[in-house]
Amino acid sequence: MLKKTTIDKLPELAAALMEKGTLVAPVKEDAGFNFREITDAKQVDLIFHNTIISPKSAFFPQVEDFVRYQTGKSILEAAPVELNLKPTFLFGVRPCDVKSFQIMDIHFSGTGVVDPYWQKRREATTIFGFAFDMNEAADAAEFYHTLGIGAADPEGSDIFMVRKDDILMLKVITPKGEKLMTGLSFLTDASADEIKYFDDYITKGYDYKTCYTCVDTEAIAREFEAIFDNADFWTKISDACLSCGVCTFVCPTCYCFDICDETLFSQGTRRRVWDACMFTDFTLEASGHNPRTKVYQRLRQKVCHKYSYHIRKYGVISCVGCGRCTRYCPVNIDIFSIVEEAVKAKWYKRL
Ligand code: SF4
Ligand code: SF4
Repeated sequence: MLKKTTIDKLPELAAALMEKGTLVAPVKEDAGFNFREITDAKQVDLIFHNTIISPKSAFFPQVEDFVRYQTGKSILEAAPVELNLKPTFLFGVRPCDVKSFQIMDIHFSGTGVVDPYWQKRREATTIFGFAFDMNEAADAAEFYHTLGIGAADPEGSDIFMVRKDDILMLKVITPKGEKLMTGLSFLTDASADEIKYFDDYITKGYDYKTCYTCVDTEAIAREFEAIFDNADFWTKISDACLSCGVCTFVCPTCYCFDICDETLFSQGTRRRVWDACMFTDFTLEASGHNPRTKVYQRLRQKVCHKYSYHIRKYGVISCVGCGRCTRYCPVNIDIFSIVEEAVKAKWYKRL
């Protein structure tokens, strides 16, 4: 089922979704675009390349309260924070970011232990994927093409959207998407020409060039294992790193968190907050010992986790090539170049 609307009717589409539940979509802010809960249908803006922070926070918020309690009272009197989720629509997600949810599912629900907060949000959410604009060149930091992700790859979306001039085409991908689309009666049927354009656009997306290195997952895991003890290599590439953690906070596949208690007088809250392996105290133990005191050890952990340990453990690279870590690193550390250098550039083919 391929439906369409016009871009000037985007607020109408947004308003219809807001009537059915919570709408989370790209919003223009001073620093750039980010996914936000929409309060005014006119806020939704699809003239963006990608957001600064990835949409993972729709399922895994940066700060999340689990339990509220009173100090000095029995733990039995503590009150868990209920989610009370409405149906949620995550609108305008780029294909590489949609793929990141599948990687995150491994950790939050795929290994036998289910995180109910992640899982309930995933179940409540309908994902509207949105193709990149292939009339523009890819951002220099992106390399999703290396990882087999197309610029108009619908896999993982419930509804997938392609924009053609002033027309927004929406295709049902899953039964969840179909149920929703059936209720959006103001959308009209696409013409035969538009159906052909949509299908061709998806196919063309797999040839759309971002930075490219021919990656063989097994070989790359092996290369990183081989250079694990090469302190010169890791020191050189991490020389400028400030341990600021930006690369992990913007990343769609970083999932480290801390659980902490915050109390004020007799009121306490137990909450989960994002953490980052790039922070100095991330591995600080209660004894005072810290196994990763050096910057290079932390950068090595981040890169090897994504490109070596994750392959060994789950068979897939934990990166979708969105380029955010490179784009927002204050000292221009480029993960793609690290991968190239680690594999000794032998497959290098920057297109
Ligand atoms: S490591 Fe960098 S390029 Fe890969 S998913 Fe994370 S932010 Fe994107
Ligand atoms: S964003 Fe750059 S400087 Fe900051 S921790 Fe990551 S690699 Fe280091």
